[in-house]
Amino acid sequence: MEKSSLFINGEWIINDNQTFFESINPATKEVIGSSCLATEEQVDLAVQAANNAYNEWKLTPSPTRANYLSKISSELKKRRKELAEMMTMEMGKVLKESIGEVDVILQHIEYMHGEAKRLIGEIVPSSSPNRTIQMVREPLGVVACITPWNFPVVLAAYKIFSALITGNTVVWKPASEVALSAEIFTEVIEQSGIPKGVFNLVTGSGQTVGNKLATHENVNIIAFTGSTNVGKKITEMGSNTLKRVSLELGGKNAVIVLRDANLEEAANGIIQSAFTTTGQRCTAASRIIVERSVKAKLIDLLVERTKEMNVGNGLVEESDIGPVVNESQLETIESYVHQAVQEGGKVEIGGKRGSDLEGYFYEPTIISNVKPTDTIAHEEIFGPVLAVLEVDSYEEAMKINNDTIYGLSTSIYTNSLHFANKASREAVSGLVYINSGTSNAEIGVAFGGMKMSGNGHREVSNHSFDLMTEWKSIYTNY
Ligand code: NAD
Repeated sequence: MEKSSLFINGEWIINDNQTFFESINPATKEVIGSSCLATEEQVDLAVQAANNAYNEWKLTPSPTRANYLSKISSELKKRRKELAEMMTMEMGKVLKESIGEVDVILQHIEYMHGEAKRLIGEIVPSSSPNRTIQMVREPLGVVACITPWNFPVVLAAYKIFSALITGNTVVWKPASEVALSAEIFTEVIEQSGIPKGVFNLVTGSGQTVGNKLATHENVNIIAFTGSTNVGKKITEMGSNTLKRVSLELGGKNAVIVLRDANLEEAANGIIQSAFTTTGQRCTAASRIIVERSVKAKLIDLLVERTKEMNVGNGLVEESDIGPVVNESQLETIESYVHQAVQEGGKVEIGGKRGSDLEGYFYEPTIISNVKPTDTIAHEEIFGPVLAVLEVDSYEEAMKINNDTIYGLSTSIYTNSLHFANKASREAVSGLVYINSGTSNAEIGVAFGGMKMSGNGHREVSNHSFDLMTEWKSIYTNY
């Protein structure tokens, strides 16, 4: 059985008090390993190590910092399958998706490697003779990366490499559900020979480890991805020491389907966005807002495609949809579906646990007759459940799309240039897709949400440097 430890100041250490928590495979309910429950003192040690390493790391030229990324990339390629399998065993998604996640990390490393040579400042004309003025980007210090379980490593990688390239040092706290995957990724980073203390891993609960990081006086930036509720708490915790806080939070993403759309393409895009990662994506499509005249045809297509999907253990090649992450997530999904039916929703397909399977399986579910005021039209479920709402016009559809506390991703299927352009302007979302599903983000493009889906920072692209650095203006008289 795997047993992981903490990585602090370049050393792997185990708790003095030997406290551990277990990782459970959601497809089989088997315990696959255990990880250290870091104490507050150990979190403190990790922050101190990062703080001590900062002075030298920030003065290391960024192209030299980038050399470590090349080594990380080579090491990651060797352990691609091992890491992907561990992610599938810890949180359930099908293996091809986990391999896809590792491949996106490799793309991101390549992108960040190039960006290290483009950490460009500005030369500003002075109003005085014999004076030059430069503006340069300066790192801030220690970045605490706090990440969720649904993309165990790539969401951390976006933060970690942006922080390291710009000269900050890092303490990473992954979600407890995926601590063993985090350990493998940390070994990959260690193998690059990165200086001691520049990168540290602490595992344990949000309440102890996350809380300590979010309130620590020597943490300068909190880069957080997770639920909106925890994001709000973290903002409060960080406010005492005026930390810079970046929040990537939840979503209630809609696909609008107009009557002139290519319905086959719309159905394909919807199924991909709604059910990959078993619907456990911040950008998952969870509302379909369709014009009444094409609703019946669209539902037929969606049901047809859903029937073709195999629910099963993510390590089995034939599986298209894995389990949800744990029992409590399964119960949450069940209770939302129950409530949707009580409020008048009609289950078109699914609506129950996977019958003959051992683990935490839920069938991909489509519920029609959903009204804009119903609970499942508003709250993030984080499971394979799609609500279908019908409307009479584009205007009504966009009003419903924007009538939520979230603003992460909106998609519209239409052949009308007029409505496609209108939607791209009117959707209050950080991401807008025309004739494509809600979760098709690419490396190098700013990623993030509006309203309660985030607080305005962006990652995945070099726009993340606005979070990781601050401007210094240097006046030189000669
Ligand atoms: P979560 O908010 O429960 O946990 C996220 C992280 O915060 C974990 O590491 C957790 O241990 C930690 N944490 C929990 N309580 C804490 C506290 N009091 N102080 C400090 N840290 C604490 O989220 P989750 O269940 O792991 O992930 C699902 C959520 O993440 C969904 O809402 C989803 O939409 C969101 N998400 C958003 C994005 C995005 O980019 N916008 C991407 C993926 C997931």
